[in-house]
Amino acid sequence: MEFDTIAAISTAMGEGAIAIVRVSGDEAVEKVSRIFRGKDLTQVPTHTIHYGHIIEPDTGRVIEEVMVSILRAPRTFTREDVVEINCHGGLVSVNKVLQLVVSQGVRLAEPGEFTKRAFLNGRIDLSQAEAVMDLIRAKTDRAMNVAINQMEGRLSRLIQRLRQELLETLAHVEVNIDYPEYDDVEEMTHSVLIEKAVHVRDEIKKLLETSKQGKILREGIATVIVGRPNVGKSSLLNSLVQEKKAIVTDIAGTTRDVIEEYVNVRGVPLRLIDTAGIRETADVVEKIGVERSREMMQKADLILLVLNYNEPLTEEDEALFAAVSGRDMIVIVNKTDLPEQIQMERVRELAGNAKIITTSLIEDEGIDELERAIADLFFEGSIEASDLTYVSNARHIGLLAQADMTISDAIDAIYSGVPIDMVQIDLTRTWEILGEITGDTVHESLIDQLFSQFCLGK
Ligand code: GDP
Ligand code: ZN
Repeated sequence: MEFDTIAAISTAMGEGAIAIVRVSGDEAVEKVSRIFRGKDLTQVPTHTIHYGHIIEPDTGRVIEEVMVSILRAPRTFTREDVVEINCHGGLVSVNKVLQLVVSQGVRLAEPGEFTKRAFLNGRIDLSQAEAVMDLIRAKTDRAMNVAINQMEGRLSRLIQRLRQELLETLAHVEVNIDYPEYDDVEEMTHSVLIEKAVHVRDEIKKLLETSKQGKILREGIATVIVGRPNVGKSSLLNSLVQEKKAIVTDIAGTTRDVIEEYVNVRGVPLRLIDTAGIRETADVVEKIGVERSREMMQKADLILLVLNYNEPLTEEDEALFAAVSGRDMIVIVNKTDLPEQIQMERVRELAGNAKIITTSLIEDEGIDELERAIADLFFEGSIEASDLTYVSNARHIGLLAQADMTISDAIDAIYSGVPIDMVQIDLTRTWEILGEITGDTVHESLIDQLFSQFCLGK
C-alpha cells in the first residue's frame, strides 16, 4: 500500500518530560534531514540515534536540541520509514519542531493514524490496534497488563482458533450437503457438528464472563463514599488518595460538576465519583442532598459506607444501610482510637454479608485491611492468573454476545433436526462475527470510526 508521509506529536507513555515528534512514510527521513543539523540522516544506518539540532532551513536559526531516531521499514511500528525527533524543551518547542516538519510538505496525522497504518500495513490486527488504544487510556498497572496481553494477540489467537474450528465444522456440513444420500455421513456429521459447535460456544461464553471484569478494569470501579457528616469520609478519601503514587485525575470526558479521581488500590482502579466537594468543605450527603446521593449510589459499583465508632448508631445510619442494601459494599467503622459507643452487634446485623473494616484514619490504622477487602471483593484472587484473556473492549463484548446467539441458534437447529443448510447459515454468521473482532471481515467505515478514537500521535 502507498501512503503519504505524516507527522504528529507523540509523548512517551507515563507523561515523561520528553516529547517526540514522530514522522512516518516514504519521505520521512528526507524531509527531516532538511531541517536537521548534524549527521546526514539520509546516509545513516537504520535503527540508530543521532544528536543534533533542528534548524529553520531558511535562516539557519537553531530551534531545538534533539536526538533523532532513524527507523527504516519494515521493522517499525507502522512498517514504514519512521523518524522520531526527541525534544526535551517544553510543549512550545515541540510544536515548533512539528510545524517545521509540516512546512517541509509532511501532512499532520489524524488521531490514531499511526496505529491505523500499522493495521493497514498488516503489522497488527484490529484487536491489537484497539489494545493500543486501551493502553493509552489504561489507568493502572493491572488495566495496563490486560491491554498488553491483548496487544500481544492473546485474544486474536483465541478467536482465530475458534474461527478455524468453525471452518472445519462448516467443511463437515459441506460434505453432508454434497452427499446427502450417504446416511452414515449424516450421522457422523451431526455428532461432530454438535461437539464442535458446543465447544465454540463454551469458549465464547468464557470470554464473555471475563468481560465484566475487563470493563471494570478499563473504566475503574465506580466508587462512592457515603456516611453521616463528620464520620471521616474526607479523611478516608485522603488516605486512599495520598498513599497512592499513581493517581490519575481524569478531566477529559467529565463534566465540570462531576470530578472523578482515580486511585490504584492494589492494582484495582477505583474511580471515586463526584468527590469534588468532599475534600474542600462539607459532605456529599449534605452538599448535594439525599436525592442526588441516592442517584450516585445507584450508579456505583462499590459503596464505602462509613460509620463512627465513637457514636451510637443513628436513624440516618440505618437509612443509609437501607438505601444501599443488596449492593457491593464495605462497611467502615472509623475512629477506633476513641471509646466504643457504636453498637457493633447491630452493625453486623445491618451489614449482612458485607465486610466490616474497623479503622482509625487519624492513626493510619485499618487502611491495609480495607485495601485488601476491596481487592478481594473484585478479584477473589482469580485475576492474578496471568494466562487469562480479558475482554475489555465494548465492541468486542458486543460481537461476542452476537456470536454467542448465532452459535446457540445453530446448536438448537442441529438438535431439532432443521435442514443442514440452515445450520450452515448460522455457523457462517458466527464465523463472520468473530472475524469482525480481529478485523478479518470488517469494512472501511468501521475502521475509520475506530481509529478516529485514538489519541493524536499514536
Ligand atoms: P466527614 O465529614 O465524614 O468527611 O469527616 P472528616 O473526614 O471531615 O472528619 C471529621 C473529623 O473527624 C475531622 O476532625 C477528622 O480529623 C476526624 N477524624 C477522622 N478520622 C478519625 C479517626 O480515625 N479518629 C479520630 N479521633 N478522629 C478522626
Ligand atoms: Zn467531609
